[in-house]
Amino acid sequence: MKRSLDIRIKTKDEIEILREAGLILAKIVHEIQCSLMIGQTTREIDALVEALIQRNNVLPAFKGYRGFPACACISVNEEIVHGVPGNRVFKNGDIVSIDIGIIHRQYYSDMAVTIGVGELSSSCRKLLDVARQALFKGIAFAQNGGRLGDISHAIQTYAESKGFSVVRDFVGHGIGKQLHEDPEIPNYGHAGTGPILRSGMVLAIEPMLNMGGYKTKTLKDGWTVITADRKPSAHFEHTVAVTEQGPVVLTEYSDITNPV
Ligand code: MG
Repeated sequence: MKRSLDIRIKTKDEIEILREAGLILAKIVHEIQCSLMIGQTTREIDALVEALIQRNNVLPAFKGYRGFPACACISVNEEIVHGVPGNRVFKNGDIVSIDIGIIHRQYYSDMAVTIGVGELSSSCRKLLDVARQALFKGIAFAQNGGRLGDISHAIQTYAESKGFSVVRDFVGHGIGKQLHEDPEIPNYGHAGTGPILRSGMVLAIEPMLNMGGYKTKTLKDGWTVITADRKPSAHFEHTVAVTEQGPVVLTEYSDITNPV
């Protein structure tokens, strides 16, 4: 029997804290995005993420999570998600997924972007554009009274219409006082199915799109997930609140207040 879902409805005050958290995280991601260079290692980027987390008086959500050793998941080219920072050096034409989670006043925020290093191939540029757009296609359906499957369906149909596949083995999630709350948010599925979305739900929506097939493989480190066919993969994620006024992207970058 399927267990019943426990989808937490957040109060306005809680969403306010989640917005603060999202703003801090978006600035950290922005800073990393601006500093990524050919020749750096994934470990150096993780060290910068850790420094930015400390400077902003928040806590890393991933470090120590089920034993994960770093503050950021950094996944290059054929790596889809959960890449462990180490000695891999960025080369011209790489695409790099940076996924960071933080805890601010006991609430979690989660965000990922995929960034090109140097000059990208036109196929990688298209993959990044479509993956970013797929996230926003999904976010548009994070509507009070809608269904979770509407988000999944929008992401899948858009991605596949552009010739990419959608990873099945990893999904988005609810988020709040826990990093991973109900519901799971697949990036594939049928419109009009799944739980009804309500104002106050907060969702981490995170499409992972592959240039080849959707099958995955986990490396011996127990974390890094790669495409089974070794073709490139891209990943974008936002933490999004469902509100009476529509979806609100809590991890949207804004430079109106002080920079990190
Ligand atoms: Mg996530």
